[in-house]
Amino acid sequence: MSPSINNCDLGDADLEDRPELNKMRCSICEDAAVARSSRSRKLLCSSHFMEAFEDQVAETLKAGRMIEDGDRIAVALSGGKDSTVLLYVLKKILAGEAVELFAITIDEGIKGYREDTIGYARRISEDLCVELKMISFRDEFGSDLDRIAKGRDQAPCTFCGVLRKSALNRAARDLGATKLATGHNLDDEAQSVMMNYLKGDIERLFRLSPRRPRPGLVPRIKPLRHIAEKEVALYGILAGVYPEAPECPYAHSSLRFEIRRMMNGLERDHPGTKGSVLRGFEKILSSAEDRPAVTPLSCCRICGEPSVGDLCKACHLLGRSR
Ligand code: SF4
Ligand code: ZN
Repeated sequence: MSPSINNCDLGDADLEDRPELNKMRCSICEDAAVARSSRSRKLLCSSHFMEAFEDQVAETLKAGRMIEDGDRIAVALSGGKDSTVLLYVLKKILAGEAVELFAITIDEGIKGYREDTIGYARRISEDLCVELKMISFRDEFGSDLDRIAKGRDQAPCTFCGVLRKSALNRAARDLGATKLATGHNLDDEAQSVMMNYLKGDIERLFRLSPRRPRPGLVPRIKPLRHIAEKEVALYGILAGVYPEAPECPYAHSSLRFEIRRMMNGLERDHPGTKGSVLRGFEKILSSAEDRPAVTPLSCCRICGEPSVGDLCKACHLLGRSR
């Protein structure tokens, strides 16, 4: 079977059954089409799909002024499809540029899941000759996620997200990174916008803005933020780097999971919904650009990391008090 988007495991609602693609031709070169680009609506063969994908990532980098000469870019590499594709495509696009690329993998300590994805992270960084730095929750916070989250009221994803973000920022900063690149795609971004709307959390909503430098925080860039999850997956398949990773055992317990299903349903019934959610958010951001939308940061009194109050979110969740 030729590679196609229908081979990707993208959950329950995001796939389109499009066997007719097998009989259709690329609108540029007449080779067999593998997908219809959601951006141009053109049918594309494997090589033109990949070229369009890389062009779109390069445009996102340029339009967002995400990378400058001399940057040392840390790529947050989980070993899942998004971060794997991100590392691969950045390595390709930035070849010959005056920037350095390295990867950071956080081992949260999730039994039966992270062993495989960490293996993928090691393999892809070796294949691409990219230096990889491994950090574990056990070393950083004294325990694995499985133990930290056991018997607690909050979902494991709450601990995982907060602690990983903290560990990534600290590692990137300690390793001299000037940018921290994450593999968030359009689906992730639309979900995050919707989650913050639903929670009424405007502060956190504005923190999604990729361009607000803050003291102690390595600026984050999200080069895949305009590209749909299924297109990231297809690119991974076509590039031969798609990892057949298992699903995290905690994934179904999060609010994000419910929002993902909802957004996939809306996208299926009203194509373009995810893109319009993100564009709407960006319009709000640009109209609010001059306002002090986010609370100034101080340093956590326990760990010294940037925090909104005197205790950072990681120390708060871990119940640290001194
Ligand atoms: Fe962490 Fe939740 Fe993602 Fe699993 S699904 S890796 S617990 S954020
Ligand atoms: Zn702290």
